[in-house]
Amino acid sequence: MTETIKYDVLIVGGGPAGSTAGHILSNAGLKVLIIDKSRFPRPKLCGGCITDKTIRLLKRVFGEAVSGLKKNGIISFESNQYEIYFKDKRVTKKDLPLAFYFVDRYRYDHFLLTMAGQAGAEVVEGERCISLDISGSRVTTSAGRTIEAKLIIGADGINSIVRRGFPKGHFDQQNWLDNMAIAFEIFINRSQLRKQIDHPVLYFDFVNHGYSWIFPNKEKLVIGAGGPFRKNKKQLLPAFNNFLSGLDIGEFQPDEIKASAFPYGGFLLQPAFRNTLLAGDAAGFADPLLGEGIFYAQRSAELASQAILNALREGKDIEHDAAYIAGQYIGSLQRYIYPEFVYARKTRDFIFTCMNRFHPASLKIIMGLLGTKPAEAIHGLRSYKWMKRNHRNSGADFHSDGKF
Ligand SMILES: Cc1cc2nc3c(=O)[nH]c(=O)nc-3n(C[C@H](O)[C@H](O)[C@H](O)COP(=O)(O)OP(=O)(O)OC[C@H]3O[C@@H](n4cnc5c(N)ncnc54)[C@H](O)[C@@H]3O)c2cc1C
Repeated sequence: MTETIKYDVLIVGGGPAGSTAGHILSNAGLKVLIIDKSRFPRPKLCGGCITDKTIRLLKRVFGEAVSGLKKNGIISFESNQYEIYFKDKRVTKKDLPLAFYFVDRYRYDHFLLTMAGQAGAEVVEGERCISLDISGSRVTTSAGRTIEAKLIIGADGINSIVRRGFPKGHFDQQNWLDNMAIAFEIFINRSQLRKQIDHPVLYFDFVNHGYSWIFPNKEKLVIGAGGPFRKNKKQLLPAFNNFLSGLDIGEFQPDEIKASAFPYGGFLLQPAFRNTLLAGDAAGFADPLLGEGIFYAQRSAELASQAILNALREGKDIEHDAAYIAGQYIGSLQRYIYPEFVYARKTRDFIFTCMNRFHPASLKIIMGLLGTKPAEAIHGLRSYKWMKRNHRNSGADFHSDGKF
């Protein structure tokens, strides 16, 4: 028997994007369902690096400060330093007034989903959304249910079923594929690496238009490499193995290396259709320079939620004024997120064009000229757009005129 329930908002996916939207909308009194195919806590391949702009969002949305997040083990490591290498040569090593924080996604995502549940969202785990009826604003699930909602938020990650339910031609499929990246990661014990790593280290020589990294955690080190598939093809895994052998981490089993796709510049300019909005990886919202996606997942979900709540405040109806909500959401993305992506992408293209066409050492010159500005942009203190300083208390995470 098919059961039909109607929610104000159905959120498909309980990762950082889904939990953020679920928390905001439930707190505002909406009837919200978050459905996720996994049971939490669940593993998620990720470097787990979060920046100061994410810390500000966690405080703003969830009321959680660094001290509390450290106390309950959500943040397991922090560092104010970073290093960048080209081959075995150090390009830069800098100290910043702000820290990079490291989280274990197993705990982080579970924590956020629990917070959304505590705010009043109904959470269904272990049930997969298998199709979207975009005109009927409903989904069917692996449990044979049909779930109807006035509005649906697709927060179901890179392989989003919700996005696949959008009509053909609504977004540029080729651009999406052209900007798809693959990342490989391995988690090792700290003792496996002779060198002591207490801050993030990036290497710009193994992957074309991408990079390799070592991120510290309390007990482990996360070693990874990622870049656009089209620019690296089958060379990515050999490049990662090359990187690992240079690090001399000792014996490991090939199946300890995990792989995942991630969006790297093919973000959707129209992440909405009828009564459905997309947020996070589902819409390609990761920064095209470093692939930072946790912040953009949460920030886009915050903007989508604000668009819904503002419409309600203006006396609009979620179901019948969905086009208005979509317009407001896209307007916010144009103001706060798209300019960052466009300029992060320009920065990446500039760096790799210089390195590939002129000399690999150009990275050192560029980093020397820019100093700590790129790192400040990563923390949200500056915009990637001409590295202009943001107003920290402007209420916006990015000060931008929305033009790009
Ligand atoms: C190797 C790697 C390293 C990374 N490192 C970093 C980093 O250090 N810092 C950073 O900021 N970003 C990093 N990222 C990017 C970051 O992981 C993502 O951008 C982020 O997880 C996106 O969050 P999300 O909520 O949009 O999607 P997800 O975190 O993918 O969550 C989607 C959720 O939807 C659920 N779901 C999927 N399909 C369905 C379905 N059909 N029905 C129901 N539920 C479904 C999934 O189970 C999942 O829980 C990394 C990515 C990779 C691949």
